[in-house]
Amino acid sequence: MALHIATPLIESASLSQAAGRSVLLKLEALQPCGSFKLRGVGLACEHYARLGAKRLVSSSGGNAGLAVAYAGRQLGLPVAVVVPATTSERAKELLRQEGAEVTVHGASWFDANTLAQDMLTGTDAFIHPFDNPLLWTGHASMIDEVAATGHKPDAVVLSVGGGGLLAGVMEGLARNGWADVPVIAVETHGAASLHAAMQARERVTLDAITSIATSLGARQVCEQAFALSQTGLVHSVLVSDQDAVAACSRFLDDHRLLVEPACGAALAAVYGNVPALAAFNKVLVIVCGGATATADNLQQWTRLLA
Ligand SMILES: *Cc1c(COP(=O)(O)O)cnc(C)c1O
Repeated sequence: MALHIATPLIESASLSQAAGRSVLLKLEALQPCGSFKLRGVGLACEHYARLGAKRLVSSSGGNAGLAVAYAGRQLGLPVAVVVPATTSERAKELLRQEGAEVTVHGASWFDANTLAQDMLTGTDAFIHPFDNPLLWTGHASMIDEVAATGHKPDAVVLSVGGGGLLAGVMEGLARNGWADVPVIAVETHGAASLHAAMQARERVTLDAITSIATSLGARQVCEQAFALSQTGLVHSVLVSDQDAVAACSRFLDDHRLLVEPACGAALAAVYGNVPALAAFNKVLVIVCGGATATADNLQQWTRLLA
């Protein structure tokens, strides 16, 4: 049995009203570890466990690491997560709660990842946060669930970090005969690696991530996400941190779910009824979730960005 759960698909009265069109929500925030990541990460971890992996290793202090920790506990495998010193106490606590062994190393993700790679033994499996075909195939299952309801959307709205979610959703659309459905790919200013790549028509590496939406903070998107962005089916939208945070607050009131600004980015595009939505009557929003933000964080960001 898969490690993720089948999530609800609901029509949102509040978002439909805000956008002036029908808005369906795929509630990935309800996955046991708080984000869609478990779909792909769960599939990858099961795969490596079957191949004989004795330990799972991650260098993500965010939702990917949490998904690996959850998967490892379910599979009875130890999990080691190496995170940089910038990782919040909250994130480390969540990882330890899931039973992961957390090592803090270096000032940046690059340093933490270097140590994680160095400590890999022949019986370890390294789980990348977004760049692995197993992840995309796992993420695609969320679209299988939508397709099973028969509700074909005119467009899908989702957030983009390294592009694993984008690649997975497009794989899901294709394998359900919905390859013609366009995708609105939302990033925050300051984490816009897909937008930069689409402008340059090649993958670019951002100098720095300056957005508070840390779960979107991949300095470069994966090759697959870039290739898909060149098909004409992906429309890039940028929102501000302020709008992403405001969308989180509004969504908390509307649907009683607390999500990270990374997810607030996609919601902000819909609350703000961005021009990219103009042609569509029935929009599916992937509510990707995120477990590392607290209600207190949300208030602090709101004050800080006002
Ligand atoms: C990982 C993540 C994203 C971005 O997913 P990518 O596959 O890196 O594009 C968006 N939102 C949340 C909450 C995430 O955890």
